[in-house]
Amino acid sequence: MTTLLPFPRLRSSASAHAESVKRNQLALADAYGRVATDLRVSLTDRCNLRCAYCMPPEGLDWLPGADVLTDEEMVRLITIGVKRLGITTVRLTGGEPLLRKNLELLVADIAALSPAPEIALTTNGIGLAARAEKLAVAGLKRINISLDTLDPETFVRLSRRRRLPDVLAGIAAARAAGLNPVKINTVLMRGINDHEAFDLLRWAMSEQVQLRFIEQMPLDPQHGWKRDEMITADEIRQRLSRHVELVEDPEDARTRGSAPAELFRVAGTGYSVGIIASVSKPFCGACDRVRLTADGQIRNCLFARTESDLRTPLRSGASEEEIADRWVAAVASKQPGHGINDPSFLQPDRPMSAIGG
Ligand code: SF4
Repeated sequence: MTTLLPFPRLRSSASAHAESVKRNQLALADAYGRVATDLRVSLTDRCNLRCAYCMPPEGLDWLPGADVLTDEEMVRLITIGVKRLGITTVRLTGGEPLLRKNLELLVADIAALSPAPEIALTTNGIGLAARAEKLAVAGLKRINISLDTLDPETFVRLSRRRRLPDVLAGIAAARAAGLNPVKINTVLMRGINDHEAFDLLRWAMSEQVQLRFIEQMPLDPQHGWKRDEMITADEIRQRLSRHVELVEDPEDARTRGSAPAELFRVAGTGYSVGIIASVSKPFCGACDRVRLTADGQIRNCLFARTESDLRTPLRSGASEEEIADRWVAAVASKQPGHGINDPSFLQPDRPMSAIGG
């Protein structure tokens, strides 16, 4: 059985392509007419939580320090992406990006690029309370914070750490620093926190943060993901609909583009909750994402089984053109989608913690 993907919507890709050609840039285009303009950069594979769907309690063998790109190397590659390859958004992820010592300096260097990309961060929120203001001043615009439960004991059960108050303080600090939007990424696990769907929605509405439920994806290092254990997008919608009426968000239908989340308006309110159905309703047809790992590998898809090494040429003095060409070739070979629903699907060797959100 072959996954029949929705026909790629050449909506913005054509304009992004035309715009990048106008700026004498190469476009990160693939064979399906998609153009990558959203760069996800994993700043580290290390993390200070041990979320059950991402990492074993003992952690993982971290990337060797010598393989991890220095700040200068990170900025050089991001600069090539922005100046030569049409990257317009840079999302900093991990592991946990707040563990990267000079994060504020990195953000400031990226924000100083011309054309300036929009900078976003995906974090577990630990330590954010003390840094949100500085990150916003450095140039950070928007943020996604992972929060899977409001119950301290469930938080410990899920992440093997007693840090819920830190995360909640981080969320409050992000709002106070004017980061906008502040999105909350939530993964529901059957029998652990799936009973909290509506509690999380009610909390997010009162806190005025944008809640995004994400289907659990097969990216755990233990390769233990089971489809029937995954809470599907339809299930999430049904559970919420026991408490509130959800209506398709008309604005979303019109403007969704490559955004992963499908938005549903809570009837009678101006609030929309997002559901990211990565597995059950893939959105790969409009994908504009490309990834750079902490050790300098390009992944043209979250589920790519091959990578393209930029670290070695970078360290052996390759020119910006050579690196840009290698990057373009990496994206050109992008598959039509993740293939999770294909019997032939094979999970990537690299775990989520070393790829980033
Ligand atoms: S799975 Fe791959 S192709 Fe699909 S949306 Fe994610 S990164 Fe894009």
